[in-house]
Amino acid sequence: MEESSQSRLIVGQRLRSMIVTEILKNVKDAGISSIEFEGPEIAIYVKNPQWILEGEEKIKDLAKQIRKRMVIRTDPKSRKPKEATIQYIMKNAPEDAGISPSDIQFDEVLGEVRVFATRPGKLLGRGRTFRNQVLASTGWRLEVTRKPPLISKTLASVLDLYIRASSERKKALREIGERVYRDMIVGPRKIRITGLGSFGEVGRSSILLDTGESKILLDTGFAQNGYGADAYPFYDAPEFRVEELDAIVISHAHMDHIGLLPLLYKYGYRGPAYMTPPTRDIAVLMLKDFIDLFIKEGRDPPFTMKDINTMLTRTITVNYNVVTDLSPDAKLTFSDAGHILGSALTHIHVGQGLFNLLYTGDIKYYKPREESNTTRLQPPASTEFHRVESLIMETTYGATDTPTREEAEAQLFSLIKKVYDRKGKILIPVMAVGRAQDMMVLINRAFESKRVPEMPIYIDGLIYEVTAIYTSYPELLAKPIRDEILHEDKNPFIGRNMVFVNDQTKRDEAIFSEGPAVIISTSGMMVGGPILEYFKNLAEDQNNAIAFVSYQASGTLGRRIVDGEREIQMIDDGQLKTIKVNLEVQRIEGFSGHANRSELMSFLRSLHPKPRSIILNHGEPSQTLSFAIYIKQKWDRLGFESQPEVIFPENLETIRLHPRNSRIHSLL
Ligand SMILES: [Zn+2]
Ligand SMILES: [Zn+2]
Repeated sequence: MEESSQSRLIVGQRLRSMIVTEILKNVKDAGISSIEFEGPEIAIYVKNPQWILEGEEKIKDLAKQIRKRMVIRTDPKSRKPKEATIQYIMKNAPEDAGISPSDIQFDEVLGEVRVFATRPGKLLGRGRTFRNQVLASTGWRLEVTRKPPLISKTLASVLDLYIRASSERKKALREIGERVYRDMIVGPRKIRITGLGSFGEVGRSSILLDTGESKILLDTGFAQNGYGADAYPFYDAPEFRVEELDAIVISHAHMDHIGLLPLLYKYGYRGPAYMTPPTRDIAVLMLKDFIDLFIKEGRDPPFTMKDINTMLTRTITVNYNVVTDLSPDAKLTFSDAGHILGSALTHIHVGQGLFNLLYTGDIKYYKPREESNTTRLQPPASTEFHRVESLIMETTYGATDTPTREEAEAQLFSLIKKVYDRKGKILIPVMAVGRAQDMMVLINRAFESKRVPEMPIYIDGLIYEVTAIYTSYPELLAKPIRDEILHEDKNPFIGRNMVFVNDQTKRDEAIFSEGPAVIISTSGMMVGGPILEYFKNLAEDQNNAIAFVSYQASGTLGRRIVDGEREIQMIDDGQLKTIKVNLEVQRIEGFSGHANRSELMSFLRSLHPKPRSIILNHGEPSQTLSFAIYIKQKWDRLGFESQPEVIFPENLETIRLHPRNSRIHSLL
């Protein structure tokens, strides 16, 4: 071991030994077998499972007092064998809970037994009795999950990996824990952010936050509309060294925010990646698909499955509104961003009240009172925070006011009716995550309420798998959808006219069958995926139509068609062919998962407290600039007490952010 790292290790033990002493002092009778720093959590292992039932409250109080995340786990030696535990649960669970032995899984690292139940309320009802019984009798902590109406293979594969790689994951968490709970080296001295991607553009989101003490990377995206080096953030910048990073924080599972995470592990990053649980699940699916896409095109993928697995063993999921230590001077809190399932606003608190940064990632906002009667899938972005000095905000639609959602729905339905009457097919390119589920729910409901005549809907691409993940997290969806799944035992995503395309026969049926049909397929900007095959076959018939319902980045095929290109060169059966675009092209705005200009303004108006500086990114320059001017003109109407500083740096520009008590800045 090198001398410097050795001395750091000794220094780094001071904080940890202080915490250990504090715990031992407060919890004397638990029969503690060890205290481990596992990622951001302090895990207390106890020999007597019974003690947990009585001592849990004590630990909660202590955790509050020293402001750390603490969990109690049973010592692995005091846990019953898995077979016996399964038997115990099957014998004692209420019969109508709807579980079978194959619905029971174990996580040895966390000491948890996870049960998927058709009626989870039956297992959780009447206080925590059953959960406590299982813990006291078997030593395993019971986690109950609703058995989703669609079964996701991805989720199963993640859990499976965690079981296979459990010792590796345990080791990884402890390494991360040592770094999170190290002693402060210099302390927070200056807060600087550098845009490594997504400043003055959409795509390759990546921002480096440097506090002097710690370095945190916000998002690590791949630009699907970029070529060569332009698809990657500036990871060759001198201030970016992968081994110096304390943490990577991911806002959501779209490729332009998470696409290169496995690549950083390939380059030697061994720290944690923080994200919400659905972001992890969707990401696994998207990243695997990303590799497949490269292989299909005969190119070398930038990373492999092995790198995705390394990433997963070091991924730490964090729910909304849970405060998590990233390093000695930085704490993370996620809250809902309203953009897609699991999307998060990232709040970073630096030092003891020194500085607070809020990064929106991608957001959608509408008035919360509209949630109970909306057709939208996600609740609006959160706007209440303890403190926010600086805000990094997306501006995809900073200059554009799109029609309302109601107008967009009316436009889509009238197009569907028109195409139905002329017996054509209507193509809807969508990203597998978000807009796809939105369209499925919306069109199903329109069939039910007879707003449009019924016809087959073909669904192609990764959409089925993603939808299965959506149905696994009903509590995160907007109220009407959540209620249908939780209380009415309905699955709003699936209707009787839906056909999931999983082979060429079904695809041919969608293309060549007589009569009208709706085809929903990936990718959303037509940069790949089955949508290309549908387009090649359906573009030349003027009875057909294509409806663009989401953002089309410049340079993509989708954007070229929207912008009016009517002859497209495409490879068909290995031959370059010219496709004539005769089908009806409609751009339907108002469905986007991004807030439009009014919604961005409305988010700023509701945001509490108000930031002093606003840094704009994730927008084409004209959009960002127009939004900057807009804020500068209307800040008082948005409820700011004084004019906020509005900046829109370019990639590689570093900005220093100043705490409230900064001498020069307090003169302003
Ligand atoms: Zn996004
Ligand atoms: Zn984005």
